[in-house]
Amino acid sequence: MSITITAPGRVNLIGEHTDYNGGWVLPAALAVSLSVTLAPRSGDQISVTADVFGGQVRRRLNDAAAGHWSDPAVGALREANTLGLLTGGADLSITSTIPAGSGLSSSAALIVAILKAARGIAGSDISDTAIAVAARRVENDYIGVPCGIMDQMAVAVAAPGEAMALDTATLDYRVVSLPRSHSMAVIHSGHTRQLTDGRYAARKEECDAAKAVFATNDLCQLIPEEIEALVRIDPVLKRRTRHCATEHRRVLAAVEALEAGHIDGFGQLMIGSHASMRDDFDITIPPIDALVSDAVQFGAAGARMTGGGFGGCIVACVECGIREEWQAQLLAAHPRARFIDAVDARIAPS
Ligand code: ADP
Ligand code: MG
Repeated sequence: MSITITAPGRVNLIGEHTDYNGGWVLPAALAVSLSVTLAPRSGDQISVTADVFGGQVRRRLNDAAAGHWSDPAVGALREANTLGLLTGGADLSITSTIPAGSGLSSSAALIVAILKAARGIAGSDISDTAIAVAARRVENDYIGVPCGIMDQMAVAVAAPGEAMALDTATLDYRVVSLPRSHSMAVIHSGHTRQLTDGRYAARKEECDAAKAVFATNDLCQLIPEEIEALVRIDPVLKRRTRHCATEHRRVLAAVEALEAGHIDGFGQLMIGSHASMRDDFDITIPPIDALVSDAVQFGAAGARMTGGGFGGCIVACVECGIREEWQAQLLAAHPRARFIDAVDARIAPS
């Protein structure tokens, strides 16, 4: 018996690094996706075949993470066993159009798809939210990426063409309609990164240090004036905290702007988010700053880097009527950049 499950990539429209600091995020599902075919096996053997990584890899269920591309697959199968969805290893075959390591959550799509396939095999009624929580454990505890819950929730729950306003503290969410006049274009910078390289973890550690200073678990809930008023704090920690608190407020304002149809206001919030990631959270890189700046210069209502940072993609809010011309101009000015996908409200389920 085998089951095939497809999970989408996601683009985060606004709210970066707020999902482990008690804040909101606003991701949307993409059309690019990853599919997994899972066939259980008795015993602890695992075989993984992935079109983009090439060849077949053999692992065992009790293998530790090895810094290998097959780690998320092994971790997901271990989690499926812990949840009682499988009893043993599996043969996995993976195909994907989500570029890996680009801030579009290929890792979450892979882990969620494996867990959903195992749910199907077991005939279990475990919820999508519980699958997302389990998928986060795989990233945090097995792979060693201290990420929040956004990617897993977006990939497990969100539908194409609409955004999901998610409170990461409670996991409550509501669907936010996107404007039909604009599309959210995802452009790859041509620079990839690995979240396991330590820089993402360094930001998480700085946030943990700031949480100790402010005696709170939720940096996002601090009042910006309260942060500015504190003088006896390391200036770097102050900037990290400022990003979390202001970014959370930008997400709340962005949801309001979209719901009111104020696209220019939404665009300005994207631009503010990018500046905060660049100046306060230090997670952008110069070629991405240049790409974002030109995206706005060439007519986008707003643009920002999306995802954990240090490379990957930008997302830009562009009027449908000018998008083709805008894109041609942007890609001509940035030869390493390429178009990945566009979130389009016109394909949203009604
Ligand atoms: P992102 O989630 O932003 O794409 P990550 O670094 O978190 O970036 O995850 C990328 C990792 O996910 C890859 O190194 C690999 O381990 C796994 N992965 C992603 N896509 C695939 C795929 N098509 N086949 C197998 N493994 C994949
Ligand atoms: Mg990831």
